[in-house]
Amino acid sequence: MQGLVTATFGRHYQVEAGNTLIACVSRGKRSGIACGDRVVFLPTCAAQGVIESILPRENLLHRSVAHRSKLIAANVSRIVIVVAPVPSFYDLLVNRCLVAAEAAAIPALICLNKYDLGEPAHAAQRRLEPYIKLGYPVLALSAHHDISPLRPYLSGQTSVFVGQSGMGKSSLINALVPEAHTPVGEISEALDSGRHTTTGARMYKLGASGRLIDSPGMQEFGLNHIQPEQLDQYFVEFRPHIGHCRFSNCRHQHEPGCAVAEAAAAGSITPARLTAYRQILSSLNP
Ligand code: GDP
Ligand code: ZN
Repeated sequence: MQGLVTATFGRHYQVEAGNTLIACVSRGKRSGIACGDRVVFLPTCAAQGVIESILPRENLLHRSVAHRSKLIAANVSRIVIVVAPVPSFYDLLVNRCLVAAEAAAIPALICLNKYDLGEPAHAAQRRLEPYIKLGYPVLALSAHHDISPLRPYLSGQTSVFVGQSGMGKSSLINALVPEAHTPVGEISEALDSGRHTTTGARMYKLGASGRLIDSPGMQEFGLNHIQPEQLDQYFVEFRPHIGHCRFSNCRHQHEPGCAVAEAAAAGSITPARLTAYRQILSSLNP
């Protein structure tokens, strides 16, 4: 039978098949199964099963856990990067999330929350203008007042929210899916039953056809799976310049004849983005 993984608890999974929820375990020691995966499972007894295989994925997002990378969600079609005026957000984190989105070819939306805060909110909005110029949508709203502007972006999509703590990610998710923080359902109690304390990601229905994956503790995406030589492609405005550097393997650090550095000097790439690229590059595994 086929189903959709809608929650993960260590190596235990909640799988949705039609209108039923099946408590599954994975076959084998290392599972590599993520929330959002479509899987083939073998029913064992009432509402229980064993996951046999994962169907081909459209994409896969990782979370950074120290220097390891952990799966968080598969088959995602929208990434919402939550920022706020207070506490201040880090551009490096926004850039890391945009890189993860580009690497997985998932459309990103930057959501400026706490737009009710007046002048600090307007200052934050000005800080986000460079991202609009790059083509990323920026939506200003307030989780405390009205989250309806978000809905068109999420309708029919499988979305994940990411952001530094304190930005209001939980407030937004709670406003969108009120059941997200109500006590967990029967099946997750059966799965979780005290033994599997590491509750992972969980998928909620959103409107008629949307889904939202909530992953506790997820602040940013892991980039360890990205090859350093491919990083430049994930900076959208670098793309026209890649291949025009003097050295074909130019990493755009301080090599002579670097077309990316020249574009930065000429103003078509901002110094902030070039700096972010170099910081992320140096953080990747060689
Ligand atoms: P998370 O850590 O990103 O999940 O953030 P929370 O949802 O826990 O929110 C962090 C703090 O910001 C809480 O004190 C919220 O009440 C507050 N907050 C969240 N959304 C808004 C908003 O739209 N406006 C204002 N003024 N505060 C908000
Ligand atoms: Zn270069």
